[in-house]
Amino acid sequence: MRDKVYVDREIPQWRANFHIHSTRSDGLQEIEERIAAYREAGYNIIMPSDHNLMWNTDEYDEENFITMRGTEVSPTNRYDNQKFHAGGLWRVCHHLLAIWDERLDRPCPYEHDERLNMLISPGITSWNEYTRFWREQGFYMIYCHPRWSKANGEHLMAMEHCQAVEVYNHECRIGACVGYSEAEWDYCLSNNKRLYCCATDDCHRFVPLPKPELSGGFTMIQAPELSRRAVSEALAKGDFYASESGPQILDLRVREGCIQLQCTPAREIRFVSEPVYHREISARSQSVDAITELEVEINPKTLFIRLELIGFDGAKTWSQPIFPDDLLRDDEREN
Ligand SMILES: [Zn+2]
Ligand SMILES: [Zn+2]
Repeated sequence: MRDKVYVDREIPQWRANFHIHSTRSDGLQEIEERIAAYREAGYNIIMPSDHNLMWNTDEYDEENFITMRGTEVSPTNRYDNQKFHAGGLWRVCHHLLAIWDERLDRPCPYEHDERLNMLISPGITSWNEYTRFWREQGFYMIYCHPRWSKANGEHLMAMEHCQAVEVYNHECRIGACVGYSEAEWDYCLSNNKRLYCCATDDCHRFVPLPKPELSGGFTMIQAPELSRRAVSEALAKGDFYASESGPQILDLRVREGCIQLQCTPAREIRFVSEPVYHREISARSQSVDAITELEVEINPKTLFIRLELIGFDGAKTWSQPIFPDDLLRDDEREN
């Protein structure tokens, strides 16, 4: 099996939240307040994602703090002019974060604060045309809050042109107890639909921005430098992981057929995989105060393995999935 580095201790990590609402749409705080709060909380990257309203300015950028361009698209039902809503007629509504790919040699095609009044028909075909439209323009597409949207694994399997999914959405958790979407994500991975995971705050109105050490969902971006282009590069390559202020992944790699992890102190590490041999390694089972490093051998027949790191307060961190088959050499595959 070939070696591969997933999180490299030598490369800096930047804290990001790509999902923020303000009075520009249905949030209760002014965007300037939101931005100041994130900056003070030590975030490096945010994207104001008010519904169907483009963010395309670098006015608030400063040293160690950048804003990505994009929006949360949540279009309107073409026929009755009502928003697609989880509790309404169509039961399943899809929301998507669209983040401009800064690697492209053309500018984001929408003005700052441009309103995106887009209509959509019921049915997956219409949604897939819609997501393709965004993807082809040059946006990175993240499927938002599957559980809040009442999207199950089959719905997610049918959605095309998305590169990542919110495995954790903080406001969906504290506002509606539907913050975690691991089962829906795993269903996709088990069927070889590859989606990266991210975590977001999706802050609207219910609570003030939680301090990062208390709770909240964020995505850790790994990139040699803090720039929009570097963030887009990391998103494309999967050089990021999701967290609700759980333990930090310091280093994660496959070496000589083993997963090797280094992290800040964790109560337990869960290995979630297909076929299902979920296993949990706790500090207690290892007779240590906390887990800070771990090595586990990979069964090469495993379709995917992903790690969950659990902190002493129960907060989680999610790694991206590892696909052992990608790492097998030709002679290993034949056996
Ligand atoms: Zn949403
Ligand atoms: Zn939202």
